[in-house]
Amino acid sequence: MNDNPPLFAPTEPIFPRRVSGFYRTLKWWILFATLGIYYLTPWIRWDRGPNLPDQAVLVDLANRRFYFFWIEIWPHEFYFVAGLLIMAGLGLFLFTSALGRVWCGYTCPQTVWTDLFFAVERWIEGDRNARIRLWNAPWDTRKASLRLTKWAVWLLIAICTGGAWVFYFADAPTLLRQLVAFEAPFVAYATIGVLTATTFILGGFLREQVCIYMCPWPRIQAAMVDPGTLTVGYREWRGEPRGKGNAKRAAVAEDVDSQGARVRYGAALDKDHAAPRISREGETLGDCIDCMACVNVCPMGIDIREGQQMECITCALCIDACDDVMAKIGRPRGLIDYLALEDTPPTVPAPEGWQPTAAWRHVLRPRTIVYTLAWAAIGVALVVALFVRPEIDVTVAPVRNPTFVTLSDGSIRNAYDLRLRNKHAEPRAFHVALSADTVLRIALEGEDDLVVDVPASATVRQRIYVTARPQDPAAAVDHTDLRLWIEDLTSGERAHADTIFNGRESNDD
Ligand code: SF4
Ligand code: SF4
Repeated sequence: MNDNPPLFAPTEPIFPRRVSGFYRTLKWWILFATLGIYYLTPWIRWDRGPNLPDQAVLVDLANRRFYFFWIEIWPHEFYFVAGLLIMAGLGLFLFTSALGRVWCGYTCPQTVWTDLFFAVERWIEGDRNARIRLWNAPWDTRKASLRLTKWAVWLLIAICTGGAWVFYFADAPTLLRQLVAFEAPFVAYATIGVLTATTFILGGFLREQVCIYMCPWPRIQAAMVDPGTLTVGYREWRGEPRGKGNAKRAAVAEDVDSQGARVRYGAALDKDHAAPRISREGETLGDCIDCMACVNVCPMGIDIREGQQMECITCALCIDACDDVMAKIGRPRGLIDYLALEDTPPTVPAPEGWQPTAAWRHVLRPRTIVYTLAWAAIGVALVVALFVRPEIDVTVAPVRNPTFVTLSDGSIRNAYDLRLRNKHAEPRAFHVALSADTVLRIALEGEDDLVVDVPASATVRQRIYVTARPQDPAAAVDHTDLRLWIEDLTSGERAHADTIFNGRESNDD
């Protein structure tokens, strides 16, 4: 006989109850805003001229370009993306140190889609009690039809989710026509298939398991919060000892679920809302009537009254549930609330007149101010860099093999590769010249003049030659500094690139 306990406990299904209140409404607004942005953004058009894509947000992998409304990021400007990623990281530090796992509770894609899938489940199968009954019921026609309907709606949402993603990487209307006509690239179908499957499984079936077991963020966040962080917690000093109270002196808190069934909290009210609640045994009770409403609405299936737990995503739905109960029994809201651990009173019950620190003092702390300043500094630097970046991008690279050649008349010639980027939506011509103080001569390979034509939003590589006559000092010495000037013949804008000219004494010879 094996006495060892099993390593893994079976997963307990969670059936969160419908709840309404401030945080539930806030979550709905955030859900609609984030999903709306995600699904609709690829369909916004933005006119950039005849030679450029008119999709407002586009990751053009083929041409290695990222378009964001009026901003166009080239591969060599990847530092903008790096800067945005650093800002996103600092933003997470900031919000986590101020408001705990607010990202997890409100805006994480896993939370948002799981929330949407829960809403669909409640809409089709009913609220908590109805879903528990359905879960325990044997399979029959009704159960099968409800399950199939739910899975079909989940699948539709999952397909839309996977489909929306690929539209960020190609012209959305064109790709949609290709997808419908089965003419789209295989990678588009494969991407939609993978994202559809992951959305369906992670949002519909794995739900809280993703947050608890798959996501590293809860562990990382544990290192970011401190006793001054505002997070969802239970005011134990106010709620304990919990209990149902004296039934003779009290009414019972009730609610009605979405199926119309009465939900009795089994709790006792103190009718004048002033005298302390008394248990049947005569004990003075706290405000918690042990109705389990906070547990029943929790999408993670935990009891916040047991203290801070890694599973808690601070979605604040337990605050709404408990505030509702407090209103029904005539107690002040906030038994469960956003609070900081350092706000625990020195004694239980709290001393007369003891008050927790104001919430804004927890948000505005030296730590959060430093994060905000660092975040803003990077943001300002990126904006400044965006507006001062040159419209002409030019680089020049000397050809190293050989570093120079000696012509039949004794002249020394160096070759260079010039790369010119035209960031405009129309073709541009650029004049190439050496600085006026040099006697060296320049020529373009394959060109009679010194003009390079660059198509719209493109990069051109041009081989150029610089020659020193035998009597020029640059021909004899090791190397000479050289500056190339590029002039946009349309706008008159100028840019330069510095390099060196290798003479006969060059060590590389
Ligand atoms: S909802 Fe409030 S009163 Fe009810 S069990 Fe939770 S903490 Fe106690
Ligand atoms: S205990 Fe549950 S309902 Fe309350 S904030 Fe945490 S995850 Fe949300």
